Amino acid sequence: MLIDLHTHTGYSYDAAPDMPQKHVDAAVQRGIHVLAFTEHVDFFRRESLSAADFPAGTVDFDGYAREIAPFRRGRMILPDLSAQQHDLAVCREQAGDSILLRAGAEFGQPHAAPELANQLLDQYSFDFVIGSIHQMPDDMDLYFYRYETVDQSSFLHTYFDEMEAMLQFGRFHILGHIDYPLRVMKLPHNQPSLRGYMERVDCILRKIIAQGIALECNTKGLLGWQQAVGPEDCVLRRYRELGGEYITVGSDSHAPETIGYGISQALDRLRAFGFSYVTDFENGQAIQHRL
Ligand SMILES: [Zn+2]
Ligand SMILES: [Zn+2]
Repeated sequence: MLIDLHTHTGYSYDAAPDMPQKHVDAAVQRGIHVLAFTEHVDFFRRESLSAADFPAGTVDFDGYAREIAPFRRGRMILPDLSAQQHDLAVCREQAGDSILLRAGAEFGQPHAAPELANQLLDQYSFDFVIGSIHQMPDDMDLYFYRYETVDQSSFLHTYFDEMEAMLQFGRFHILGHIDYPLRVMKLPHNQPSLRGYMERVDCILRKIIAQGIALECNTKGLLGWQQAVGPEDCVLRRYRELGGEYITVGSDSHAPETIGYGISQALDRLRAFGFSYVTDFENGQAIQHRL
């Protein structure tokens, strides 16, 4: 059973402009059985940022000003969720039994504006929400740090502090790409890894298990320098050892061409690590599909 629980359509600010129907067509063509749309909803602590908020040279502020700032409406990046959910309903009707479509969302650091996140969660009904950390406590996206100027160890500790704060907020079902910083921290002399941070990872894994939150296996790393499905072996192994049962797979696709990319490899990997089920969510309830 092929499942892709992490994809972005043209409703997400950073995705290709194609609307949901094109994604559904691509997914059906590739034999995907369950597909979820998880548009970006990001939350910020402050109304806006200026270059003067950052020590000179530590971030690519022009990149932020070009690629993030125009999409912010104060403390949120908020896609048109009503229109998106309407499109999804139309897609469901047209698709019939050929594919199961889930209404998801990817909330970036919802604890940064918990009152706004709570409002959205009360207003819209989602099958599930992915909780991810995209921005640091200074509201800058991980993508725009200049890592040659950053102490990587303290940066990762801050990242995990943010994840702990998000877990305390708690209103989400899947922990998205726990290894996200590794995608962007690569430098010529440095192969970043979570191996040196397993104490932090351990704590987080224990908490998600206690809270019934699933760990995500995200295949986007296959297309980056890592050339591998995340998270690293040490993280998956530890999750198994701790008794973690809920695990989802997602391509983090931002265009119809990459829907389902790497999903069969991800499922093989889960089998190799001894998982018997892959997790899906409907109306907030976990569904375990046998691997
Ligand atoms: Zn993400
Ligand atoms: Zn995503």
